[in-house]
Amino acid sequence: MFCPKCKAEFREGFQLCSDCEIKLVDRLPNEPPADSEYVEYRELLVTTDPAKIAMIKSLFESEDINYYFHGENLTSMLPTSALTTKLMVQSDQVEDALDILRVLKQPHIID
Ligand SMILES: [Zn+2]
Repeated sequence: MFCPKCKAEFREGFQLCSDCEIKLVDRLPNEPPADSEYVEYRELLVTTDPAKIAMIKSLFESEDINYYFHGENLTSMLPTSALTTKLMVQSDQVEDALDILRVLKQPHIID
């Protein structure tokens, strides 16, 4: 027997939850696993080019890609040559993101 409110489990024979004082049920309704909200991100590329980062941001935002740049702003004390930023994209949107990046590689858009 389970309490539908606090989800405590009770032995057979109990009718009320001792904490909530409500009627117990035989089983709790199925709930999605707690980790279903977890979103996995994959590293798509590493760049040192701020212009490219700005271009990727505007394109991904217009296409509703869930992404973030890892390392951005963390290395601002280092010389420019050491500024590397990892582009991380939500794993189920990697294909869409790659399509966008292919467009970026066209020479007339970015060299
Ligand atoms: Zn309870």
